[in-house]
Amino acid sequence: MRYSGFQIVKQALGLGNGWAPVWRQPEPKPAYDIVIIGGGGHGLSTAYYLAKNHGLTNVAVLEKGYLGGGNVGRNTTMVRANYYLPGNSEFYSHSLKLWEGLEAELNYNVMHSQRGLINLFHSDGQRDAMARRGNAMRNQGDDAELLTKEQLRRHVPYLDFEQTRFPIHGGLLHRRGGTARHDAVAWGYARGADSRGVDLIQNCEVTGIDIEAGRVTGVQTSRGPIRAKKVAMITAGRSGQVAALAGMRLPIESHVLQAYVTEGIKPAVNHVISYGMGHFYICQSDKGGLVFGGDLDFYPSYAQRGNLPGVEQVMEAAMTLMPMIGRAKVLRHWGGVMDMSPDGSPIIDTTHIGGLFLNCGWNYGGFKAVPASGWATAHLIATGAPHATAERFRLERFRDGVGIMDEEGTGAQHNLH
Ligand SMILES: Cc1cc2nc3c(=O)[nH]c(=O)nc-3n(C[C@H](O)[C@H](O)[C@H](O)COP(=O)(O)OP(=O)(O)OC[C@H]3O[C@@H](n4cnc5c(N)ncnc54)[C@H](O)[C@@H]3O)c2cc1C
Repeated sequence: MRYSGFQIVKQALGLGNGWAPVWRQPEPKPAYDIVIIGGGGHGLSTAYYLAKNHGLTNVAVLEKGYLGGGNVGRNTTMVRANYYLPGNSEFYSHSLKLWEGLEAELNYNVMHSQRGLINLFHSDGQRDAMARRGNAMRNQGDDAELLTKEQLRRHVPYLDFEQTRFPIHGGLLHRRGGTARHDAVAWGYARGADSRGVDLIQNCEVTGIDIEAGRVTGVQTSRGPIRAKKVAMITAGRSGQVAALAGMRLPIESHVLQAYVTEGIKPAVNHVISYGMGHFYICQSDKGGLVFGGDLDFYPSYAQRGNLPGVEQVMEAAMTLMPMIGRAKVLRHWGGVMDMSPDGSPIIDTTHIGGLFLNCGWNYGGFKAVPASGWATAHLIATGAPHATAERFRLERFRDGVGIMDEEGTGAQHNLH
């Protein structure tokens, strides 16, 4: 069923009884050409582009929970292309271009809103670094504007510019940055993949990876064995555990990242604001809730929930940056498990096992990467060669020491960035 204004009117006249399920609930088949482990944003977009770009539809996505129940439905929804280093720049630039056409492409409202993202700076040194980043973004073909303190004040008058610890000197504005509705992105890709023939199988945990003579032959699951010519591990925070099923030890640490939302208030925060010194970022959802987050928990964990020390740190940063937030009531907070790589950049690669592929290492920023990641991973699975935008995301960089240390790169010491 195609969604349109006409369809809404038609269904309203039929009292809404004619809406078809958004995707099928198939039983797993005994064998597929390609099995994708993980029904998050990256697994679903990979399945979609395998079908759409490469005509490969004998594909199953195996999800141990429900579609969108992982990090893709837990993040703070920020979408941007403001990277500095080659390797990342072209990839995230490609992703933002895909975002800009995504709703028409998927015939699904993912509520992509290019409301502008502002990175604050607090010293002359930081201003120079932001100017360099902005120039790199423009060289890549994306947008960036360096704002003085007075220019910035016109955009965000409610910030505390004169705070004692980190007075605000200005900001880098990325107008094409913004937000999208996180779980709608998963559902949109799921619907697109399903309509092209991909089987989306929920409540199906992969418990083993079958390997014969150095080649993958299938997977063991909570719903029985499934044979496959190719298998892709796309499980974000669980990547270390899933790769261990194939005897691999990844350069990945899993850490909890928490997020928060307040009660709905009138429109007040019109941009996405990133306050690097406090490691705090905030935007306002279409329902009016202030959505914000902070730093990782500093110890590795698979606990998909929040905790009080995280709350305290984030609330302190929030109050420092915009004291008015103290008037809003926090409704909920939650956690997701981040797959942190040593250089803060992702991995999209083949492995030493024939037919076994890996997509992980998304750190804090994998939501905005969902379109380009699916595009590049589908290309890798279909052709065996890395896509031009993801050539640097290979595992070998951890052996050669040529990392892409763009936003992070602090190894296991994530509290040092
Ligand atoms: C609080 C928070 C805020 C964030 N903010 C942003 C942001 O503003 N912008 C941004 O770009 N990124 C952000 N991120 C990061 C982003 O959400 C993640 O990098 C991204 O969603 C990870 O990829 P995914 O969607 O494929 O992961 P997931 O949705 O976690 O998908 C992985 C799936 O694999 C499944 N799985 C695991 N093991 C198995 C198994 N054995 N068998 C079958 N299935 C399995 C899981 O159930 C899960 O559904 C944030 C993350 C969090 C937690």
